[in-house]
Amino acid sequence: MKRIGEVGWVEKDIPSIGPMDALLKPLAIAPCTSDVHTVWEGAIGERHDLILGHEAIGVVEKVGSMVKTIKPGDRVIVPAITPDWGTDAAQRGFSSQTGTPLGGWKYSNEKDGSMAEYFTCNEADFNLAILPDDISPADACMLVDMWSTGFMGAENASIPLGGSVAVLGIGAVGLSAILGAKLQGAARIFAVGTRPVSIIVSKEYGATDIISYKDGDTSEQIVEATGGEGVDAVIIAGGGPDILIDAIKSARAGSIISNINYFGQGDTLPIPRVEWGFGMADKDIHTGLCPGGRTRMERLADIVTYKKGDPSKLITHKFNGLENIEEALFLMKDKPKDLIKPVVIIDD
Ligand code: NAD
Ligand code: ZN
Repeated sequence: MKRIGEVGWVEKDIPSIGPMDALLKPLAIAPCTSDVHTVWEGAIGERHDLILGHEAIGVVEKVGSMVKTIKPGDRVIVPAITPDWGTDAAQRGFSSQTGTPLGGWKYSNEKDGSMAEYFTCNEADFNLAILPDDISPADACMLVDMWSTGFMGAENASIPLGGSVAVLGIGAVGLSAILGAKLQGAARIFAVGTRPVSIIVSKEYGATDIISYKDGDTSEQIVEATGGEGVDAVIIAGGGPDILIDAIKSARAGSIISNINYFGQGDTLPIPRVEWGFGMADKDIHTGLCPGGRTRMERLADIVTYKKGDPSKLITHKFNGLENIEEALFLMKDKPKDLIKPVVIIDD
């Protein structure tokens, strides 16, 4: 990112590392909708010559003097969110919010990201997970943000076993939320979206009902399909501010509206007063930033190893070589109809 609205290449020194950190070379990297928000919407404010990228699998080049379990040559899963594990927020169980709100989000935010020949990881022992031999770097790249965020959407929704859930928005994050909801034991899963490639994957990941928000009011369609009741949980994974109205209207009493969406507009967000029971409807709103850290990544990898989910289904476009990252990023910006997620393989 050269500045808001402009990307290009920049020459920088190989980054230095602290005693608990690791220096890495990427094996695979993926651009994210968040990179698009950062560059073209100025989501995190102005930045000059910031290296983008927070979704990567890497190989360790060098480690700091205090690193005990990670060594040069290790192939590692690098979470998008790399918390400072000794902080108060981490100890209270909110590791993604260390230091400042969203403080666990360091890559392409408070430091250079992974779309580079070299990048670093803080607290390597606690943030990096060894990449199992049976998972390719490209597939594993889908775990570090997409699966971790989408699954968190389902976890935060506290979906009852056999319950119903609506996932609003079926890009890579929403699709991951669908798989997360299935793994959490949801029986009926509404996928709300229109992209044909996403509809195919949503069914493969466990969706039972497809709703098009372009065919009429989302909440009316969901309420009608559930006999006037609404669903036990709603996961918001796309859309603008008004999607909160859809979510609250689609939810029944005792529900959780789990938001994993980024809201880039407006100083306030709308809540429909009547359908929210004038503030007393037992419809709770839960928010969260993607969970990071080693244990989280190891568990996501186990889901692949033990065949409970297939991350390769999210990948629609593969490139080879770092020089193609620009094309992949522009795909993410332009979102052609056949795109879910592009990945750039540097070495596998
Ligand atoms: P995406 O753009 O691929 O998918 C979102 C989809 O929602 C799009 O297909 C869009 O057409 C659709 N949509 C728009 N309006 C809608 C409506 N009214 N109803 C239903 N669907 C609607 O994006 P993505 O990569 O899947 O990411 C989804 C969101 O998650 C983004 O805002 C992203 O910034 C955010 N995100 C959050 C975290 C986190 O930690 N919480 C992490 C990664 C991404
Ligand atoms: Zn991302």
